[in-house]
Order: sequence, then C-alpha cells, then structure tokens
Amino acid sequence: RTPSPEELLDGLNEPQRAAVVHAGSPLLVVAGAGSGKTRVLTRRIAWLISERKAHPGSILAITFTNKAAAEMRERVEDLVGRRARIMWVSTFHSACVRILRKEIDKFGYKSSFSIYDAADSKRLMTLVLRDLDLDPKRYQPRAVLNWVSTQKNELVDEEKATANAKNHLEETYAEAYTIYQRRLREANALDFDDLIMTTVHLLQAFPEVRETYRRRFRHVLVDEYQDTNHAQYALVRELCADEPGAETGGADRVEPSELMVVGDADQSIYAFRGANIRNILQFEEDFPNARSILLEQNYRSTQTILNAANSVISRNKGRKPKNLWSDAGDGDKITGYVADDEHDEARFVSEEIDKLTDAAKAKPGDVAVFYRTNAQSRVFEEVFIRVGMPYKVVGGVRFYERKEVRDALAYLRMLVNPADEISLRRILNVPKRGIGDRAEACVEALAQRERLTFWDALRRAEEAPGIASRSLNSIRAFVDMVDELQSMVDAGERADVVLEQVLARSGYLKELEDSDDPQDETRVENLAELVAVAREFADEPVSGPSVDPADTDAPPPGLGDFLERVALVADSDQIPDQPEGGDDNGVVTLMTLHTAKGLEFPVVFLTGLEDGVFPHMRSLGDQTELEEERRLAYVGLTRARERLYVSRAVVRSAWGAPAHNPASRFVDELPVDLVDWRRTEAAQTSWNRPVMPSLPQRNAGGVTRRFGTAAIRADSAAKAKGTREIPSLDPGDRVLHDSFGMGTVVSLDGAGDNAVASIDFGSEGVKRLLLRYAPVEKL
Ligand code: ATP
Ligand code: MG
Repeated sequence: RTPSPEELLDGLNEPQRAAVVHAGSPLLVVAGAGSGKTRVLTRRIAWLISERKAHPGSILAITFTNKAAAEMRERVEDLVGRRARIMWVSTFHSACVRILRKEIDKFGYKSSFSIYDAADSKRLMTLVLRDLDLDPKRYQPRAVLNWVSTQKNELVDEEKATANAKNHLEETYAEAYTIYQRRLREANALDFDDLIMTTVHLLQAFPEVRETYRRRFRHVLVDEYQDTNHAQYALVRELCADEPGAETGGADRVEPSELMVVGDADQSIYAFRGANIRNILQFEEDFPNARSILLEQNYRSTQTILNAANSVISRNKGRKPKNLWSDAGDGDKITGYVADDEHDEARFVSEEIDKLTDAAKAKPGDVAVFYRTNAQSRVFEEVFIRVGMPYKVVGGVRFYERKEVRDALAYLRMLVNPADEISLRRILNVPKRGIGDRAEACVEALAQRERLTFWDALRRAEEAPGIASRSLNSIRAFVDMVDELQSMVDAGERADVVLEQVLARSGYLKELEDSDDPQDETRVENLAELVAVAREFADEPVSGPSVDPADTDAPPPGLGDFLERVALVADSDQIPDQPEGGDDNGVVTLMTLHTAKGLEFPVVFLTGLEDGVFPHMRSLGDQTELEEERRLAYVGLTRARERLYVSRAVVRSAWGAPAHNPASRFVDELPVDLVDWRRTEAAQTSWNRPVMPSLPQRNAGGVTRRFGTAAIRADSAAKAKGTREIPSLDPGDRVLHDSFGMGTVVSLDGAGDNAVASIDFGSEGVKRLLLRYAPVEKL
C-alpha cells in the first residue's frame, strides 16, 4: 500500500511537516516534551519509504528501548505496509550487536561472542581484582567497573587509559581495566559498553567496513538524542559526518548518510551513564550546515500540566527557554496530597484510582505511578495486592536476574561460546557434581600455565597438577555432557529443545524438584517460563530485530539469537502493552521516573516528592546533580495527559528507621494556584507527637512488612508446600502470579494434583499452568 503524500503529512503542524520532508542536510528537531518529536521521526521514515526517497533496508532508526523500537516499526508498517519490515529499528546496543556479529572477526573475536551483563562483568572484575591482589575494601569491583564504563563511554581503551593515568589510583584502575579486557577477549565476550566502543573502533580501524555501512544506511534517525553518550555520538559521526580527507578518498568514497536527530535537552536524565547533553546543544557545530527545527505546540498535556512542568524546569540555569503551549485547555488542577507515611500515600493512590475507575474517568491501564527508586514500589504493591488493584511493576528484580534463570542461561551461553569462562565456571559445579573449588583451581592453574582457555584446560584436566582422580572422573563426565549438548547446538537445534536438554541432563531440574525448599518450586516454575520464552522465540516467524530479512542466506534464528534477545532486554521493555479496548481494562503501571521516558499516560501519580527521596539524597549538595533531578521531575510531570497527582509522605521508613523528610523543592516550584491540596501537612498529626497512627501497626507487621511482597509470597508458598493446598479456582477468578503478575483464569482442566489452569496474564499472554507448582494466589 502506498499512501499519498497528503496522508503522510496529515495531522502534522507546519514545523512538523517541514521536518518530515526535509532533505539535503543534517536535521535537528529540538522541542519540549509531548511536542511530537517521536511522531515526526516515525512519519519521516514512512515518508522516505513511500516517496521512494529511501529503500526500507537503507534506514537505521535508533530508539531508547527495544519496546519503543517495536512500536515505531509497527507504526511505520501501519503507514506503508510490510515492506517496512526490513528497516533497522533498534537501540544503539542492538544495532551494534548486529554489526559486530558480522564484522567482529576482523578484531579476532568469534561472531558467537557472549554479551556480559552487569552481574557477569562484576564477577569477572572480582576475579581480576583478586588476581591483582588488591584490597577488596579499597578496590570494589563495582567502583572499578564504573570507572571502566566511563572510559569506554568516552572511547578510551585500556592503552589510552594507562597512558592517561595521573596518580596511583588511576594507574591501578587502568591495570585492572587492561586485565579485565584481556580476560573478556579470552572469553570471547563483550560487556555492554564494549558493544558501542568496539563498533566505533571497528568502523574507524577499517574504512572499508565503514563505507559498507555508510552505503547501506543512507538514512540515520535517532530519537532521544539528548541521552546519547560520547561513544554513541562517535558512532553516528562515523556514519553521517563528512570527514575531510577521509581515508579511502577517491571516487569510491561514499557520501555521508543523512541524519535526523530529535531530542530535548531538558529531558536529559542519564548523565550518570555517560550521556552528554553537549551532543544536542552543539549539534549545529558538530554537523555544519545542519538545519534545526523547533516544535512548540504540545499535543499531550493540558495547559495546567504544562505550566507546572515549565515552572519547575525554568529553575535550571543555562538552558534555552522554551515556549511550550497546548490547546487542550486548562483541564483539571493538579491534585496534591501529603500523606502520614508511605503506606498512607499508597492507600491514597489506590483509592484515587478506584474513584477514577468507578466514575469511568479512567481505566487501570490509563494510570501510571512513578517513583524515584525501585525500592519504593514495594509499598504500592502491598496495598494494591490487598485491595485487588491490578498492577504491573516495570523494572526492579527482573526475571532474567533470578539465580535459576541466570544459571540456565549460563549453560546456554557456554554451549554457544565455550571460551566464555564466566558462564562456564558459574555452572561448573551447579548442580553439585564433585568438581569442587580445589579441582577448579587446579584446572585454572593448568589454563594459566599452558595459556589455554578454561574449557580447553578442562578437557586436558588429567594434566592439571595435583588434581584428585575423583574430580577427574567428574570432570570427564561433565565434558562428555557438554560435548553432547554442543553437538545439538551445532546441528542448529531449537533454543527451547536445547534448554530442556540442558535442564534434564545436567540434573539441574531434578535437584530443584527433589528439594524441600518452597522457593525451589518457584524456581522450577521460572525455568518452565524460560523454556516457554525460548519456545515462543523459536516459533516466531523469521523477522524481528535480531534477524536481517535482507540477508536471504541468513539461517533461521538459533540459540545464539535467543541469547542475544535475552541479553538486550531493558527495564522499560517490560511495560505491558495497552489493551486495544474490549473489556480488558489494563493494569496500573508502576515504574521509576527513568523508565517513564518517552511514554504518556492519561493519569499520572508522581509520588515520594520529598527532599532526600526526590531529589535524591545524593544530589542535594550538588548543583549539577540537582539540575539532573529537576529534569527528571520535568520528564515525570510531562508524561501526564489529563490528570496529574503529586504526593509525599511526612514520615518514610528508610533502612527500617522512620525518616522525616521536608517537602521536595520541586513541589515548592509548582505554581501554587495550579495545585489543589487535598490534604496538607498542617492537617495531620505532627510527626514528633509520641504516638503516630501508622507506625505501631507497621512494626506489628514484622517480617512481612519489612520484606514486602516477596515475603508475603514466599510465606504463602511455604504454606502451600506444607499442606499441598492447590488453590481452587473458577474461570473468571483473578490471580496473582510471582512472575507474570495479575491474571484472569480462562479455563481449567484436570483435577487434584493434575489440575491445569489457563490463565490470561494480559501482555504476558495466556499461560497453561500446573496448579500444583504454579506460584499463583487467588485474589
Ligand atoms: P517526549 O519528549 O515525551 O518524547 P515527543 O516530543 O516525542 O515527547 P510524541 O510522543 O511524538 O512527543 O507526541 C506526543 C503526543 O502528541 C502523542 O500522543 C502524539 O500522537 C501527539 N501528537 C503529536 N503531534 C501531533 C499533531 N500534530 N496532532 C495531533 N497529535 C499530535
Ligand atoms: Mg518522544
């Protein structure tokens, strides 16, 4: 289907149209929140394709999350049809992985490299620091890794870092960096920051590779440009900047690709991860003859909400003032609430949501609750579970961070990439198979002496000095098992089948099933879920971000592709899809402010507005950090379309002890006439009165309260284990599942121990669960 140009420009204002049809020079769209930046970027892609200005395969669009990428792809497909499928829409990280899988052999890696996440990196750094004999109190893995990450974001490799070191501390860090990189390389692994840095280095080191990608991506479009770091900026430059005296020169030199970036300096909130606001502020210097377009009309929020947001952000120094306006009318005033404590705050939020839904002013799916740190979700969860409010937490302890899931993935990773020492050693003796620490140390000594990978040393374990013959037998059995599993992988077996075999042959599943620990039941369930994820992946039609449909010779997605998909899941990728009407009213979304970037909701609760909570304690004495917190507040406020609530608690428990925080300065920065305070501090018990209504109750809650829902659930799991009580369910019942969240029972089969329920978990899909094991609670 080819829409007319009018159709594609329909529903856009003048400057938006200008941005969509712009040609011939780099383009910057700077504009405040909700002014249609993302919409313009999406339309431009559709325009380029439908006006035949670009082949879909020659488009590279960068979004901040995989979910945003999927949405953008979908929207473009809606506009111009299925031919849009082959464009690259992805995060920086995913795009780099795709490039690296093809090209990284030029740097001596295998294309099956592993991607280490934060936990893997930390494990590796711990090994490195131990090898260097450094005092673990002075040199904490996390601190060293942060430093390394900063270097990588600045494209400073280990050699440069060593040369740059100005004092003993930096020299030590640089030494750790050097060894860390060496071990990554030996493990054929890259950490997260490497993905970008290595790609940039590759494009710089091999001009012909760079030309290939310049030729391939004639159009590069970047959303949320204010949050790019230096390495990402350099990547964009490699593709899009006109380098005078480019290495290849001559007639076959490829013109730089066309670039469009959109962003809002006021929404830069990732400085702590190396994002650099200068990238957007100096775009015109970086890309001479760039055009920039300003959008000023906001289409998301009421004027009240905008005025509030503008008033807060205007306190930041050295920003360009913006004149954002809306013709949506003033709308409702902002509702303010000062709670006794965090429980009272959560209760207020849930009661308000109830009122809105009762009055048909909103559905649960329209509502988002924001807070500054993940830990704040717990109290909301407790209250929401108690009152039966359907919700979903985005972020927090994630499925892929659970121990059993990580173990299973470690098995898979070392099958794909045997050099991956961290994964291999993670599962070497999991479940226990008689390869203890001593044997592991013997093998490591052999590996170091003979300069072998750990895996190759395992194969030659009989040469390891001092190894016990009993360990040797265990090692042989292990190597045989891995060999067999690897041959399945080599034969291109499906990810889910390999995973099932891993769990069975390793004895991992059996150990959990035989265990008396109630938590192990949940673990079995989580592994079943992982198998289901792998199955869905293997069943997917060949498409999606990790497969290049333009490569007709590309093999069907295999285990490696599955691992890649899993490695690149980000927090905000877990946001449930809003139901498309019908009788499903969706669920309330709980998330941190950082995760909320780019999203919008009809109703927003901005909670925990206390100095020391938000703005975060850390930022209170630091002007730069305080300004970043203020931008975060601006992001939060501008997510709201119609209704905005701000709340704070007079007393909040921090580390188990109640803290009395003053009102957030951001509350004071809201124009007084815009906020309707439902309850103020003066109206309630003063905090230092001897008896506080909610505290004794909280202490009486004991363990459950302290550990939150995890404890409530573990508790009920324990009860279920003791009595083997299978929840009696009927179709239509609402249930709560440990991993999938809220669900509705669709149907039931079987009875007693064999009872199976089909439960609809909304965006998680419909799951068939054996009730005997499933960690579900009837609500
Ligand atoms: P953010 O800074 O939060 O990322 P944004 O600038 O990317 O915001 P969009 O998300 O693209 O803004 O748009 C905000 C809302 O306004 C969306 O619901 C979008 O569909 C709508 N919108 C944008 N432009 C128009 C327009 N010209 N007419 C009607 N609605 C529009
Ligand atoms: Mg946007």
